[in-house]
Amino acid sequence: MIYADNAATTKMSEVAINTMVSLMNETYGNPSSLYTFGQKAKEALEKARADVAAVIGADKKEILFTSGGSEADNQAIISAAELGKKNGKKHIISTAFEHHAVLHTLNKLAKEGFEITLLPVHENGIVLPEEVEAAIREDTCLVTVMFANNEIGTIQPIREIGAVCRAKGVLFHTDAVQAIGHLPINVVDDNIDMLSASGHKFHGPKGVGFLYFKKGIRLTNLIEGGAQEKGKRAGTENVPGIVAMAEALKESVAKMESTTNYLINKRDRLIAGLKEIPHSAVNGDLTHRLPSNVNFCFEGIEGESLLLLLDDKGIAASSGSACTSGSLDPSHVLLAIGRVHDVAHGSLRLSIGEDITDEDVDYIIKSVKEVVEYLRGFSPVWRDLVSGKTQFILP
Ligand SMILES: *Cc1c(COP(=O)(O)O)cnc(C)c1O
Repeated sequence: MIYADNAATTKMSEVAINTMVSLMNETYGNPSSLYTFGQKAKEALEKARADVAAVIGADKKEILFTSGGSEADNQAIISAAELGKKNGKKHIISTAFEHHAVLHTLNKLAKEGFEITLLPVHENGIVLPEEVEAAIREDTCLVTVMFANNEIGTIQPIREIGAVCRAKGVLFHTDAVQAIGHLPINVVDDNIDMLSASGHKFHGPKGVGFLYFKKGIRLTNLIEGGAQEKGKRAGTENVPGIVAMAEALKESVAKMESTTNYLINKRDRLIAGLKEIPHSAVNGDLTHRLPSNVNFCFEGIEGESLLLLLDDKGIAASSGSACTSGSLDPSHVLLAIGRVHDVAHGSLRLSIGEDITDEDVDYIIKSVKEVVEYLRGFSPVWRDLVSGKTQFILP
């Protein structure tokens, strides 16, 4: 199998697996216990906190461990909203193409009387800092913009957006789940107040992540119970998962430069090959783009059929977000960059990993070409396009 769905999840690294197994075997004490055996687990936990903090230029007191990216997003947004409400500020700015962990949390807040502004992301999938600035009001309590988009891979001008928020005194959160471990991030230089991360997007385990929150930001208690994570999130900590995540992150960051160069080469080979398919288009900016991300629309076909036939050929890919598969609505991300419904339906996301070879890339190109041609062969939509009954949208 060729695994090309690393934006959905990644394979755990050897160091992450070994760390996890070793902790489960040898350091299984409860970190809240007072005896030495429990304190060993506590030490491992606190070292992981310091390690994770160091990677992003934060202090260990500014790291809250969570069950993943979704929880970190929920925690950040709900905390900022609580703080805003206390000061009579109930306006939040975000973008139209955020992950559902952000958008659905904002929907919930809208029902509670918050006003939400979703900024456009334009044809290239990039938010403009000056549009963030123009949207900020007296009653704005939070700006939340993702670091890199999970479907089309576009990288946002985070440092500039952060600077705008700093100047206006508004909290700035970024969902960096797709970026951390893959792009350089420093929360101080990048003007970030809160940042969400998830272990399984950088070769760590699933079900574990963290939120960076700048000193002075008061978080909401998300889970009531014991005093773990300073009472913000009760429950015995997932020590093996947390420590394995920290190890995976350190490794990803250490290898980042070589991985990036390798992936960009493979990504651009894939894009060049798939571009040869007539009436197709790349989604998202080509320069400000994750090294792993390829996203195309092919006119006249259904993305789901394409995925199933690629699966038959041993290629694991996605039509966009794993969260929307199973629903018939086209991707909200592709609609946000202006793709019409019919075109957005024919989408394909390939998110490649370090194990991909040139032979794999060429096999993917050949397979996608075959499958697209095959599907168009009996597509009534395609027939109408070819006969001129309807107009092609993609050149
Ligand atoms: C995967 C993902 C999430 C959710 O992370 P989980 O750890 O699976 O909860 C949130 N935001 C983005 C951008 C993601 O890609």
